Amino acid sequence: MERTSSEDRRLDDAHKRDIVVKRLNERGVSLEEIAEITLDLQKPHVPGLTLATCLDHVERVVMKREVQHAVLTGLELDVLAEKGLVSEPLRSILMSDYGLYGIDEVLALAIVNVYGSIGLTNFGYVDKTKLGIVKKVDERGKADGVCHTFLDDMIGAIAAAAASSVAHRYA
Ligand code: MG
Repeated sequence: MERTSSEDRRLDDAHKRDIVVKRLNERGVSLEEIAEITLDLQKPHVPGLTLATCLDHVERVVMKREVQHAVLTGLELDVLAEKGLVSEPLRSILMSDYGLYGIDEVLALAIVNVYGSIGLTNFGYVDKTKLGIVKKVDERGKADGVCHTFLDDMIGAIAAAAASSVAHRYA
């Protein structure tokens, strides 16, 4: 039987989800660690919220095409910068995680915007407080030859988007 185009799209999204998770793992980040941030964000608002539920919402977020495309783009730029395959001045900007670059946060908006303004508020909070794995990734990114300029924002945005998804469901 022929598959409909919407079925094709679902399979395609599931396949890309696997690649996104693999790339995140290769960069030292698990979905569970992202879900821990989501739990921290939503615990005060949703009594009895569990890590398993948060992980469920993180999974929903990484099934979205806009999210997958943003994450793949961001992680790719980090890796290319580490390999010296980005030309100057961008390479130095990325390798030093230059504070006024700002495009890492702009790309993160493509993720949080999927869930509307509450996603934006949550992302701003994660970006400021550097919860959990975001802080760890930030620290690891300071090592010589390591570029986590986009990685921290991608995981902060996924956590914030998942928190918004939880809020839409329970609040
Ligand atoms: Mg950054």
